[in-house]
Amino acid sequence: MDVDAQTMARLEARSVQLARHLKPCPLCGRTEHDVVGTRDRDGRDLRTVMCQACGHVFTNPAPNEDDLKTYYTEYYRSTYKGVLTPKRKHVLRAGYRALERLSRLRGFLTPPAKVLDVGAGGGEFAYLLSCTGYDVVGVEPNAGYASFASQSYGLDIRATTLELIDFPAATFDAITMHHVLEHIADPSAALKRLACWLKPGGLMVVEVPNVMSWFHAPRRRFHDAHLHTFNHAGLEDIFTATGFKVESLYITPGTAHLNIVAREQTSPTESPSCRNATSDVAAHFKRHTEIAHVVSGMAFKRIWGNAVRPWRERQMLVSLGNPTVARDILDRLFAAKSTAA
Ligand SMILES: [Zn+2]
Repeated sequence: MDVDAQTMARLEARSVQLARHLKPCPLCGRTEHDVVGTRDRDGRDLRTVMCQACGHVFTNPAPNEDDLKTYYTEYYRSTYKGVLTPKRKHVLRAGYRALERLSRLRGFLTPPAKVLDVGAGGGEFAYLLSCTGYDVVGVEPNAGYASFASQSYGLDIRATTLELIDFPAATFDAITMHHVLEHIADPSAALKRLACWLKPGGLMVVEVPNVMSWFHAPRRRFHDAHLHTFNHAGLEDIFTATGFKVESLYITPGTAHLNIVAREQTSPTESPSCRNATSDVAAHFKRHTEIAHVVSGMAFKRIWGNAVRPWRERQMLVSLGNPTVARDILDRLFAAKSTAA
């Protein structure tokens, strides 16, 4: 069963119309900022600013945390209409991404270990974690995807939002969160709360979009649902300021997404202040013009990549024996990766 398209359109419109309020920088608390964008990637009004003190880029004015909580709760209820089945190509794509993430995680965490996957989506990463021997719990606000992940892969996926769920202190060895932190009004408060659920010395593994990426054209740089667009220094600083020790920062080739691995420190030894990334971020905006974007070849690479992707994905499915069920796609991808390793 598919989620009612009209309901989703109504919810999307509602998210755009949420009351917005001027806020201080969520990283350093200063109020001075420069406007760096007035439209989102779809041409709708969206005021985006860069903090003059630390260079963090964020939506301002932005919705209040309580309004967002209400919105996401409504989103959760509206998607509670049964199982939402992703297409084979989407499982394949998510499966490939999940295998890359899994391979990086294994360098820091040996199975068996208890892992919470926040924003589990269709459950592909959580399932591959479980195939590797990790004990996984997922949280996914879209009830349709959560049902699919539970039923297809036999996973423990809680259909709710991060704000509405709680776990006992020191439950998990690691928490993974791919493309979630940029949607949260107060990322510092969220990281402090998540740190409580980690065992002493536990790992936070987070992936977010990078403000200094060349992947999107400048006019498509900002997304209405993203309250923050992090730079690498700001992302490291927010982890350090919330009691973590940064172990690794990896930049995904192509998209330039920021992937951070940080370890919970029960007794943080220092209380560092935010670095100032203003000149680096401003220099990126100055360099990355529409013309520079075309000259960089990124636009052409993306058009070509999108044109050949259906053919490549069909070939990949054929090479896996043309599996029709999501679980078989992931099992065969996992087996192929294990054989190649
Ligand atoms: Zn700031």
